[in-house]
Amino acid sequence: MKCEICNAEVANSEEMKLHMEREHPLDERGDEELEKPDMMPEAEEAAPPIVPGKN
Ligand SMILES: [Zn+2]
Repeated sequence: MKCEICNAEVANSEEMKLHMEREHPLDERGDEELEKPDMMPEAEEAAPPIVPGKN
């Protein structure tokens, strides 16, 4: 049988299990656990208001 992830050939499901643990320990999890920066509601000072009609 073949590994679905990397197409490596393994002899049987036992080997597959070992292969998965060894080669793909992350088990195709999504990237959901990436660190997401919290939106800081602090950016008000950074952007001065644009006043139309000046100049
Ligand atoms: Zn594999």
